[in-house]
Amino acid sequence: MVDKNDDLAKLSLLTEDILLEHLKERYERDLIYTYLGDILVAVNPFNETSLYTSQIRDFYRYSTDIHKPPHVYALVDLVYRNVCHGIYERQCCVISGESGSGKTESTKFFLKQLMYLCGGSSQLEQQILQATPLLESFGNAQTVMNNNSSRFGKYLALNFINGKVIGAQISDYLLEKSRVVIQSPGEKNFHIFYYLFDYLPFEIKQMLCLRTKYDYKYLLTNSSLDIQNNGSVNSLDEVINAMGLLNFTDKEQHSMFRILSGILTIGNLEFSIDDEGFTRQNFDEEKVKNNLAIIANMFGVNSKLIMECLTTMTTLTRNESVIRKYSLQSSQDARDALSKHLYARLFSWIIGKINETLNNPYPIQQYHHIVEIGLLDIYGFEHFELNSFEQLCINLANEQIQYFFNQHVFRMEMTEYESEGIMAETLTFTDNQSFLELFMAKPLGILSLLDDESRLPKATDQTFVEKLNYHFGSNKHECYSIKRNNKYSFTIHHYAGKVSYCALGFLEKNRDTLSDSVVDMFKHSQDDLIRLLFHGNPSDGTINSNKGLQHRTAAEKDARNRLTVGAQYRNSLQILMDRMCASHPVFMRCLKPNQKKQAHLFDDTFVRAQLRYCGMLETTRIRKEGYSVRLSFDEFIQKYGLLSKTHSSDLSSIKCRHILEETNLTEWQLGKTKVFLKYYHPEYLEKLMKKY
Ligand code: ATP
Ligand code: MG
Repeated sequence: MVDKNDDLAKLSLLTEDILLEHLKERYERDLIYTYLGDILVAVNPFNETSLYTSQIRDFYRYSTDIHKPPHVYALVDLVYRNVCHGIYERQCCVISGESGSGKTESTKFFLKQLMYLCGGSSQLEQQILQATPLLESFGNAQTVMNNNSSRFGKYLALNFINGKVIGAQISDYLLEKSRVVIQSPGEKNFHIFYYLFDYLPFEIKQMLCLRTKYDYKYLLTNSSLDIQNNGSVNSLDEVINAMGLLNFTDKEQHSMFRILSGILTIGNLEFSIDDEGFTRQNFDEEKVKNNLAIIANMFGVNSKLIMECLTTMTTLTRNESVIRKYSLQSSQDARDALSKHLYARLFSWIIGKINETLNNPYPIQQYHHIVEIGLLDIYGFEHFELNSFEQLCINLANEQIQYFFNQHVFRMEMTEYESEGIMAETLTFTDNQSFLELFMAKPLGILSLLDDESRLPKATDQTFVEKLNYHFGSNKHECYSIKRNNKYSFTIHHYAGKVSYCALGFLEKNRDTLSDSVVDMFKHSQDDLIRLLFHGNPSDGTINSNKGLQHRTAAEKDARNRLTVGAQYRNSLQILMDRMCASHPVFMRCLKPNQKKQAHLFDDTFVRAQLRYCGMLETTRIRKEGYSVRLSFDEFIQKYGLLSKTHSSDLSSIKCRHILEETNLTEWQLGKTKVFLKYYHPEYLEKLMKKY
């Protein structure tokens, strides 16, 4: 089973060509996993493999043998052993790679195996696993790059006591809600919409006033409507089952379906204009009337009020209210904004509801040994023909992850060697810090400038691009270039390549406004869930509000609401980074073998580009030369003190030296406060410890 090239960090000569060659050769033998030191590389097989059978799951269970072939299960085992031995208080598993490379699938294998190692049968473990199909059905969709693409970022934090999982929380990052109302050619809406038509029983569809999937504008894209490969979910039953397990009541589920049906129907609402060119409040036309009745029914609001909200705006001036009519475009925008907001709020509520169920029921203070594993699965780097605000946000998150990776692997390595006074070569690497500054800097960063423009009433998407060009163009910033002959576009030089963005719609997407009248209408909806989503009067008690929402004060809510999308996103990424920086990370790099989503096809050029931009080659070198395990003297003595026969009351550094010398380990180094070990040392030490 053991292959000499399981760990490419062990090759004596390693060049880009050799790395590529080995990965390809292994891929052709269906060996999709390879180590690069302690980083696990996975090449997406794009087909069912026999790599995840119960025999294989058991094979990697509690293994102390370092010579087992690389596998995501081996990574799980390592992380779980660290949990059981209480080695790190917090660990995080960072799975990265571009869209369609296999991050979500790997996360699922990881989580399933982790739950299996903890026991696999408790209700909480099942609930944690069931959150996946539920979130995927609402948060994933088919894109050009991936049939089951994650359209939101997710950080799942799991808490353990004595190797048993005792709670979990999910943090989500910016759902791509524009997809609810429009999709690019060849792409689809969120999976859940199609499940309604494909799997709901006839009577329920009737109750929800659903027609066929060909009847809704929000679902009519250029691609075929047949379900292709929608990830793990095989039917709506699976989603409903998951909701049941996660304590979503029948009433809540009904409300959820009604909201979905209402959203689809409102997408079909057409407007006509009056003689002056404004949107007419049209109640006569049969089609409009029918649609309005369905929407009113599904949302639990008055149909006249809906029409009013979508055709007029009321502003208060000196105690007088002035009603202004909308243009056709404004009405359409208001309609779509309503759908996007409703869906996004529903999604957040789902996450909150899941968290309520998964929350650790014990008061944390009682326990001293709670340890955490975080699992990060975000949307991968994207580069389409037309890239918008969403791609900018997605790619920014990927830059952050790449920065974290660089930071961890390279910079911290070097800094720590220096401060501990141990010997190491000076290594060079590509840093993307200047990119992050381009985005994050205040006041002269892209997000800040976007916020400035979003606040100016006269600003447009074009003036935003002009500002960017002025501040960063003409070689003023290495990561930015002006796009000639296109006043709405600009080009960003990402770590993974150049991407041109079209700024049309940026200001509005950043402002993300929803008119007060729509919010007000929903606050007074007859439907408990909708009312809750818009922080209206508390429900009659049959729908539980999220704890998270309850605890937020009104002032906090307002402050949150006023933040732009960009600012909120920046904050949430910062919190994520802080959290990850406080954890011991393990890394998994997913590679996409080709752009055709095809099995047994390895496109050298395409893979080479991925290897290059994610700094894999440098990784290899530094990992091999470096010390991936470091323990404070006390930690080391506490864990391995038994291995030394020399009893002395010496300084802890001397004790450590005794232990290391008596175990005949080589290649370790002693710093000023820590023992530096190679990635394979702990396995060896644990083996020795077993004899005691
Ligand atoms: P995105 O950034 O778009 O969310 P992703 O990296 O999460 O992309 P996945 O959804 O995990 O990509 O993988 C895309 C598809 O590749 C899966 O739907 C599945 O068909 C296939 N795939 C990925 N990993 C594996 C695997 N280990 N075994 C079999 N098939 C896989
Ligand atoms: Mg994914």
